[in-house]
Amino acid sequence: MMDSSGRTAVPSIKRLDEAVVNRIAAGEVIQRPASALKELLENSLDAGATSISVVVKEGGLKLIQISDNGHGISYEDLPILCERHTTSKINSYEDLQTITTLGFRGEALASMTFVAHLTVITMTEGQIHGYRVSYKDGAMEGEPRPCAAIKGTQIMVENLFYNVIARKKAFKNPSEEYSRILDVISRYAIQKIGVSFSCKKHGDSRTDIHTDSTSSRTDAIRAVYGPGVARELVSVTASDDDPSHSIFKMDGYISSANYSAKKTTMVLFINDRLVECSSLKKAIEVVYAAILPKASKPFLYISIAMPPEHVDINIHPTKREVSFLNQESLIDSIQKAIEAKLMQSNTTRTFYTQTLLSRSLGVPDEAEESMPVQTQGGRNLKAPVNKLVRTDPSNPAGRMLAFMQKSLAGHVGSGNGLVDTKPVEMPMEDTRKIMDLTKNEEFAAEVQEDQTGAHLQNNKVHKIAQMDASSLAGREALEHNISQANEDSRNELTTTRRLVRQRRNLKERAELTSIQELLATIDQETHSGLEDIVKHCTFIGMADERLCFVQHKTYLYLLDIVKLSKELLYQQVLRRFGHFNVIQLSNAASLYELLVIALDEEEQSGRWHESDGPKDQIAQMLQEYFNLSIDESANLCTLPLILDQYTPDMDRLPQFVLNLGNNGIKSDFNVMNY
Ligand code: ADP
Ligand code: MG
Repeated sequence: MMDSSGRTAVPSIKRLDEAVVNRIAAGEVIQRPASALKELLENSLDAGATSISVVVKEGGLKLIQISDNGHGISYEDLPILCERHTTSKINSYEDLQTITTLGFRGEALASMTFVAHLTVITMTEGQIHGYRVSYKDGAMEGEPRPCAAIKGTQIMVENLFYNVIARKKAFKNPSEEYSRILDVISRYAIQKIGVSFSCKKHGDSRTDIHTDSTSSRTDAIRAVYGPGVARELVSVTASDDDPSHSIFKMDGYISSANYSAKKTTMVLFINDRLVECSSLKKAIEVVYAAILPKASKPFLYISIAMPPEHVDINIHPTKREVSFLNQESLIDSIQKAIEAKLMQSNTTRTFYTQTLLSRSLGVPDEAEESMPVQTQGGRNLKAPVNKLVRTDPSNPAGRMLAFMQKSLAGHVGSGNGLVDTKPVEMPMEDTRKIMDLTKNEEFAAEVQEDQTGAHLQNNKVHKIAQMDASSLAGREALEHNISQANEDSRNELTTTRRLVRQRRNLKERAELTSIQELLATIDQETHSGLEDIVKHCTFIGMADERLCFVQHKTYLYLLDIVKLSKELLYQQVLRRFGHFNVIQLSNAASLYELLVIALDEEEQSGRWHESDGPKDQIAQMLQEYFNLSIDESANLCTLPLILDQYTPDMDRLPQFVLNLGNNGIKSDFNVMNY
């Protein structure tokens, strides 16, 4: 900087406005919606809550609302509740040494009021009403007003970062922020098993996390991360009480040989605090890589207790990290304990006979600085369930396999209907029952009505009438299937649902009346009973190449995946008609050659009839409607993308091309069932 005489001016020091200071400080504590949620959650736990429910709008940027049944906040404390450095948890610095609460700085609520609008409703034990009051920049806005309430506290944080535009802009993807929020709650839910947690998006009736208070850690893990994780866990403990290395007690659950995921999930608590420790994580990954290379990205729940005076909890503004004495020695002991455990548990293994096509559902990667996002709860099976071969017959999947071999022999081939009509004896838990759909009175009546009630002109449409419910079922089942292949990971499910929703909400549906009519028929004749089954079923496993088991309520169903897939693709074609994305063939395929291959096949099977069609006209129409493009030298360059992440079997390309030629594209959309 130069002044008027040309000399360099020394910048003068000024005192910042307190509001600016506070906003800067707030940015350190409240880095993103999930850090606000974490602070709120910890306050509820500190208040002794046994039930905590969270509602989130737009990834927390619009609203985070948390309700607890803790001890509440007394009326007298409300005026200073959101001032900086006001806390009920410590009195002196020394208290930090023995602290048992999660909060201690009196900074969180204050920080939130500098970057958001905060409203509190609270009631303490024995009161006849509660109070409601809003805060801004650390101070109350008006007096607390009496209101109806129940014991406990509800806090709403609205419009987070409304005055920190740059920060707000950094959060482009609310669903990623929502995953981070779910991640924090998931972790606490498996640590605080005596507390019930729930979390949902604002306006949704369905919760994305729901746990009941339980006495079993594995139950809690199952409720949050799914049975796929819970079933693979082994417990592990370690401890040391030699003051010359480290004093600690550790217990946890770690995944065994059959578990495989894209990345490691480590849920770590030190003295009941949710923290991260990358050196411990790396040390454990090394052990897995050495002993179980196929399961080298484990799921780890680890809880460590050590004398409070050995831990410094105050080294990070969000308390995300702690430092503790004798870190190396402690990591070493834990490493050894895990190594020993894995060696023992390595006797039961699942072998993959085939690997699944890799599929990415686009869950955002975590930023280095942040809490790891629980993308799939680590539930990424590399192979479809039917391709897994168990060596341990006591395992549930092993039992399933045994059952299939026994009872499916007479069963395949009869699989024309969507639901197999033969009740099958199931050596499974008694709550699971095969339900014979066509023998169920309610359904039988409805199905019949569907089949006879529709006055439909052509065959194809009639086929839809029969299949509508199942086809809808098919679409959903496949989606479900996709997510279940990853063992019902919530995050992945959310992503899948988003994709599906985007797909369904295609505004620019085809304008053609014929397509509209076909779509209307499908919509009209959706069978609500079957739709419900498919929407809310749980995928269990494949029975054979064609049939799969799903469970709905207490019933077990067999679904015909081939039929479902066909209908799924058929409906996708209609819904995307005229708006397909494309699959680009890496090498353009000569139509002539494809046809020759197909005709050869047809000839061999004796089905070939002379057919013709002006190629260039067909080509143009195909391009327009289906994004099927054919270049000047009659090479096939692109195909329509009908189902996201689904690549058709290219071996069947010749037959597909032939069908197009034989049937024409208008008369039979079934040709798209490739
Ligand atoms: P800290 O947790 O570090 O004390 P906070 O700013 O998070 O600071 O909270 C300030 C105070 O507000 C807490 O010390 C506690 O007394 C009170 N408080 C906050 N949330 C709740 C709640 N959900 N239930 C009861 N009291 C709460
Ligand atoms: Mg706090």
